Amino acid sequence: MNELIDNTFKIFTKITNSKTGLLLRFNNFESSVMSFVGNNISKFEEFNQALSHLHRSKGIDYDSVENLPVYKSIINDLNVQSCFIRNVYSINEQNDSVYLFLFSDDINKFFHSENDVCMSILNILSNQVKEFYYETLNNKSLLPFADVKVDSDTIVINWKENFKNLLQISNDLIFMLDKEGCFLKVNESGALLLDYSERELLGKHFLELVPAEKNIEVSEAISKMLQSDKVIKFTTNLKTKLDRLVSFEITGRTIIRDGKVIGMLSIGNDISRMKKYEDELIKLKPKLKESQRLISLERARLWQQSSLIEELDRLKSEFVSNISHEFRTPLASIIGFSETIVSDPDLPEEMKWEFNNVILNEGKRLAKLINDVLDISNIEGGKIILNKISFDLVEMLKEVVERNRESAIKKRIVLEFEHPKSQILIEADKEKIGQSFEALINNAIKFTNEDGRVIVIANNLFKEVEIIISDTGIGIPEKDLPYIFQKFYRVSRPGTEIPGTGIGLVFVKQMIDLHKGMISVQSEIGNGTTFVVKFLKSFKAKN
Ligand code: ADP
Repeated sequence: MNELIDNTFKIFTKITNSKTGLLLRFNNFESSVMSFVGNNISKFEEFNQALSHLHRSKGIDYDSVENLPVYKSIINDLNVQSCFIRNVYSINEQNDSVYLFLFSDDINKFFHSENDVCMSILNILSNQVKEFYYETLNNKSLLPFADVKVDSDTIVINWKENFKNLLQISNDLIFMLDKEGCFLKVNESGALLLDYSERELLGKHFLELVPAEKNIEVSEAISKMLQSDKVIKFTTNLKTKLDRLVSFEITGRTIIRDGKVIGMLSIGNDISRMKKYEDELIKLKPKLKESQRLISLERARLWQQSSLIEELDRLKSEFVSNISHEFRTPLASIIGFSETIVSDPDLPEEMKWEFNNVILNEGKRLAKLINDVLDISNIEGGKIILNKISFDLVEMLKEVVERNRESAIKKRIVLEFEHPKSQILIEADKEKIGQSFEALINNAIKFTNEDGRVIVIANNLFKEVEIIISDTGIGIPEKDLPYIFQKFYRVSRPGTEIPGTGIGLVFVKQMIDLHKGMISVQSEIGNGTTFVVKFLKSFKAKN
């Protein structure tokens, strides 16, 4: 500390024949050794603490020190008679004092020589200490709280007390372990977290609270803490007195004095609740992900549904305008021709007959249209009843082809039917299947320009019959192919408005499906379209 003080102190020890000597400095915050000579005092820490306490409470004097149990055992350990105690220097404002302690066999030495050598050396020492203080006081940075104002001093003086209160109200486990790992101090509220009282925990080894499976891990963390002066953090469960397990995050650091580790100071943060929430959160995570997945699936489904509904809406309104148009055309003819017949009584019989014929045909067209719409809604409502019979498909197709001959001729379209000589029996609703092929052949003629060709082929396969309806017409764009069997779907062909309602192929597909048949389509824009229909043959005799 200071060579001069050290030397004077050594001389004084020699003169008084003391075995051990201490020059101790106390203030409100700390105590420190200014100089030390002679034998080691094993219980120094305890002695120092007791003296600090005395200094703060009533001051240090021989009588009060003599009554300290630790003093008695030190005298014993050092094998000396007594101790000479003197206050060497004091600064009252700071409650800062330096005391001299000399342990000797012959206590009288001090008193005999007090008036001469001893006294003068004490004076010298006192002055040296004073000077040392003067120097350090001028160098304020060396003095803690040197520039603290008088008002705040009160707070500072009560610092330890306030700090103690703070520890007691803290929700954390704040503790001090000695270098062996035993509890030296613990805050009351912290001890309660472990179902112990403060007193019960003191002296207990920290590892006693650690469950067996965590013992190695925690020991390693503590030895790591002891080997460095860095702050170490670790988490562990601690066993409470009632055998509960509480999770703590422990943050600790060693307490070092004179280069030696004398203990550990730690704060344990109770993270049980946090862990519980964390565990629950971990458990909930897959459920959350699953719900998110379901929600996104549901959202996609709803989106699909809504776009489907929008599309259906659009198709429906298109259908309404198309069907109105389809109704209006024959109705206009019917009304027009009937009016002519009624308004002109002189109309030749021949013409009347021709007009009547037009009215009849247009009426039939209207009836067919209405039937088609009703059929679709019947199929969808599951109301359709199939009247299945075993019949010759070739014969039926011949009739359908012939029914369309006239409209083909009108457009100079070559209409052919290729079929095997033998009959091909299928078991189906003859009328509905007839209507389906009628619609397919009808479309083939409708969507083929004049001078084109429409061919119907019936192929008798092993178990099936294959019917091909192929035309050299305008074709269907590739992008429309997947939708042509959908209700009200019509290929938009700007500039070439061909009448229709978009329900013909819906009926065809639904009928073929009901008969467990198959329909497929191939088309090339500008080069024609080919529909292929397949049915299982019937091996029953014709009805
Ligand atoms: P539509 O009453 O409009 O003819 P369909 O259901 O019969 O309704 O046909 C749906 C759509 O398929 C039609 O709008 C048409 O564009 C297309 N289509 C059907 N058959 C043919 C074909 N042979 N050639 C070209 N396009 C066809």
